[in-house]
Amino acid sequence: MTSVSTESSITGERAARETFDSLDPATDEVVGTYPVHTADDVAAAVVAARTAASWWAGLGFAGREERLRRWKGVVTRRSAQLAEVVRAETGKPHADAMLEIVLAIDHAAWAAKHARKVLGRHRRSPGLLMANQAATVEYQPLGVVGVIGPWNYPVFTPMGSIAYALASGNAVVFKPSEYTPGVGRWLADAFAEVVPEQPVFQVVTGFGETGAALCRSGVDKLAFTGSPGTGRKIMAACAETLTPVLIESGGKDALLVDADADVAAAADAAVWGGMSNAGQTCVGVERVYVHEKVYDEFVAKVVDLARSVRAGSDAEAKIGPITMPGQLKIIKRHIADALSRGGRALVGGADAVDDRYAQPTVLVDVPEDSPAVREETFGPTLTIAKVRDMDEAVAKANDSRYGLASTVFSKARGMELARRLRSGMTAINGVISFAGIPSLPFGGIGESGFGRIHGPEGLREFARAKAIARQRFRPPLLLTTFGRSAQTDATVAKLITLLHGKRR
Ligand code: NAD
Repeated sequence: MTSVSTESSITGERAARETFDSLDPATDEVVGTYPVHTADDVAAAVVAARTAASWWAGLGFAGREERLRRWKGVVTRRSAQLAEVVRAETGKPHADAMLEIVLAIDHAAWAAKHARKVLGRHRRSPGLLMANQAATVEYQPLGVVGVIGPWNYPVFTPMGSIAYALASGNAVVFKPSEYTPGVGRWLADAFAEVVPEQPVFQVVTGFGETGAALCRSGVDKLAFTGSPGTGRKIMAACAETLTPVLIESGGKDALLVDADADVAAAADAAVWGGMSNAGQTCVGVERVYVHEKVYDEFVAKVVDLARSVRAGSDAEAKIGPITMPGQLKIIKRHIADALSRGGRALVGGADAVDDRYAQPTVLVDVPEDSPAVREETFGPTLTIAKVRDMDEAVAKANDSRYGLASTVFSKARGMELARRLRSGMTAINGVISFAGIPSLPFGGIGESGFGRIHGPEGLREFARAKAIARQRFRPPLLLTTFGRSAQTDATVAKLITLLHGKRR
């Protein structure tokens, strides 16, 4: 809902502006009202960020680390308060909100601690031909990074870009989802408490147009997390100014169960991986391929577990409402289509989705070309298919335009199967475990996006490599001069033959 009010803009002047309400998806209660920032507001934020970026970069690794640590401390001490904002805006249970905050804090701590080691100046070998040079590389900040985030993990997901971009020495302008503006605001306010000197981390709020304005604002990189459809629009807008982009997009992640797997653990992982956060997890399990030898046992265990999960907003409900009302239609369509093509619902089914909640649904015998198997459902649903062997499981898992994450349950072949899966991340005998390991890069393939957050790769994503070659002494063979002699050319030819000309 939008309305018009008079209030201060992010640059301080008072103006009549449009606002929008953030609603509790369980009750439709208004939990906050935020400005719809215009292209001018976004431009002003980016101008302010540019000055802030120079100041922040000038603090060096130690100064930034110290401030990021203090921010992390504030977020940790007030995590229950932040979790309440997450719960109110997304509807997820408080404990689940705490879990994503805990993971985000751990990532912020890792990024702050490791930035110098990953990005600081390193020596490189100059090679034999250039042995007179000292070669170094260092990773310098890009300047201002724009971050556009989703609502499903409104702390954990954008923090993968925000904390790593800040640790790399950049200022950040963040456009949170219109469903979770309060969470973005909270994070930026907490940061401003420990870094009051400059607007190093700002938030702009609004809808797609505000995000599009950020793409066109002249930021030095745009880090986007959201759906592939919006990812395409982001790339198109950023192409106008050749602004580089990082795209963290959706998925249709598969879980594979081998004949020798711990079936109980695999079933538990499938149900939690598919249904926690009401299935609204980019790296959530959506499809399961099970070896025929353990299929019946696995399905029975999944059905048992899924029946104990209920969507609601009372204290006993394990999952909350569907945050974005428009998603309910998609979940309903996927289930109905699967059932109309011969699929069977062992839990949930046609009536699982009402106008607020989606109840757990376990589907079997669903044709592989159904939307329930091919498109991101983003609800608490699982499709389970029987396979003859793990080659068939790998082939079916890989037959997707997405490639975000995957899971393998196998005693003997876990690593082999994981390496064959076409996805950015794989968990073996666990689920979504890679996301909790700050040193591991996170990102996808194909329509799941490109670029990486988290880990050393995540820090480098927000920095530019600067190569420096310093001459230490005049070389015996001076190559870069018009005064080069025929003798030098002959010696170089001999040398290169010796070095690289061997037949074997
Ligand atoms: P979305 O694409 O609808 O919106 C994401 C953000 O983009 C929002 O802030 C929105 O306001 C903004 N936006 C919309 N139109 C825009 C435009 N034209 N220009 C610029 N910005 C625009 O996605 P969502 O519904 O918020 O999030 C769910 C999706 O995110 C799912 O597909 C999920 O898989 C994906 N996701 C991916 C990851 C990951 O790390 N790969 C993590 C979480 C969520």
